[in-house]
Amino acid sequence: MSRPTSIATLALVILASACMSGPRYDIGALDMRALADEQAQQMAAHHAMQVRVDSLFLPLIRHGFCDETGPYYGFGYLTSEQFDDGLDRRIAAARGIGSLPHVVTVVPTSRAATSGLRAGDNIYHVNGIAVNSAKDLASALDRVNGVANIAVSRADGTSFVIAVEPEIVCPYRAHVVDGIGVNAFADGANVMVGRDMLDFVESDEELQFVLAHELAHNAAGHVDAMRNNSTVGGLIGAIADGLLGTYGTFASAGRRAGMRAYSQDFEREADYLAVYLLARANIDLSGLQNFWRRLAEGAGYQSLRPNDNGSHPSYPERTVRLRSAIIEVQGKVQRTEPLFPNTRSRAARNTPLPQAAPVERAQPPQTAPVGSTRPPQTAPVESTPAPPSRFVEVGPSVVALIQARDPIQLVRMRVAAREAKETTAYRDGNRIIAIAHPSGQIDFPER
Ligand SMILES: [Zn+2]
Repeated sequence: MSRPTSIATLALVILASACMSGPRYDIGALDMRALADEQAQQMAAHHAMQVRVDSLFLPLIRHGFCDETGPYYGFGYLTSEQFDDGLDRRIAAARGIGSLPHVVTVVPTSRAATSGLRAGDNIYHVNGIAVNSAKDLASALDRVNGVANIAVSRADGTSFVIAVEPEIVCPYRAHVVDGIGVNAFADGANVMVGRDMLDFVESDEELQFVLAHELAHNAAGHVDAMRNNSTVGGLIGAIADGLLGTYGTFASAGRRAGMRAYSQDFEREADYLAVYLLARANIDLSGLQNFWRRLAEGAGYQSLRPNDNGSHPSYPERTVRLRSAIIEVQGKVQRTEPLFPNTRSRAARNTPLPQAAPVERAQPPQTAPVGSTRPPQTAPVESTPAPPSRFVEVGPSVVALIQARDPIQLVRMRVAAREAKETTAYRDGNRIIAIAHPSGQIDFPER
C-alpha cells in the first residue's frame, strides 16, 4: 500500500470513529402505536392499487381467448410467513395477520365478494381440510371441484362458512410491482405492471390496454416462443414493455440480439390482440388513440425509431396501427360480428370465453367528467392552454434533465401537474425551461 493511500485510510478511520459517538440531540422515542398505524395505512394503499388492477384485469380474463382456463375466486391473502424480520412479524400480528391466511384484497366484482368474503377474514378450513398456512390454502383450493366452502373467523370473534363457486377464466394473474418505472411485463403466466404505470395512465381504459397487451403476450405464447428463439440459449424471464428501456434488466445483450428478430412482430401482434381483448370485455376503445403518443413524449426523438434496443416498433408506427385496429374492431362491433382477431397466431386457435353482452352505452359526455384528467378525445388541435399558475424553481441538475428530455423527469412533471391540477412552469432564474399542463402535455419554450 502506498503512503498516500494509508493516509487516506487513516483519515477514513478517524472520520468513522468520529461518527460513532452517536447523535447529540434527544429526538424522543418512536411512537410504536403510530408506527404500526402508519405501516397499516401504507400496506392498505398498496392493497388498494392491487384491487384496482385486479378489478380492471378481471373482465379481460373473463372474456379473452386463452390456450388454457382455470378457477378464479377474486381474493388475495397474506400470512405472517411473508413478513421477514425487517417487516416485523409482531406488527403483522397486531394487524391480525398470523399463520392463518388473512384476506387482504377482495375484488368487488368477483365471486369471493358476492359470496360475502371480506378483507380481514382469517381462513382456517376449506371443504373440511384444515388450513394452517398459505401453502395449505393453495393446495386446498387446488383440490376444489365445484364449490369451495371456506371457513373464516372475523376480528369480532364470529365465524362463518362461505361458499364460493369460482369462475372459469384465463389462468393469468396481474400484479403491481415496484421499481420498474413506467413499465409492464409478461412472463408467460403473470402480468406485472409497475406502480409508476398506474400514475402514468389517464384512465382505467388506458391501464386496461396495458394489461391487455401483456395478457396477449401470454395468451399468444410469445414468451415461450422468445425462449425457444433465443439463439444464445438460457431462459428469458419476460417480455418487457415500457418507456424507460429497462429491457436490459430482463435479458443480457446477447439474448436480446436473438430476441430482436421476432420481438417487433410480437409487439405488433400484442397491440392488435389487446384491442380485441378490450372490445370482447365491452371496454370503451375511444379514449385510447393517443396512448402511444403520450408515452412517446417521454422518449424524445428516440420515439421515432424502434424502441428498447430495437425490440419494439416506433411509437409513430404503434399509434397508426392502434388507430386502425380500433377502427377494424369498432366496425365489427357495429356489424355485431364476433370479435375474433384476423390472425394466424396461436391466439386465434385458443379457447374463446364468452364475449361480454353489449351494453347500451350512454352518449359520451361533452366535457370530461369531474375529477377526470382525461384529455379531449378528438385529435389534439392547437388550443390555447392555460397560462402557468404554479412555478417550480429548479437547480442545474434538473435543468440538464429537462433539456435532455429525460423520460423519468418528464413523467414526474406530468404527474405533478396532473395531481396539482395546475399548469406548472419550471424555471431557472427567470428562464422558463418547461411548462407541464394537467392534460399531460409538456411545452419547451426554449426549443
Ligand atoms: Zn409487449
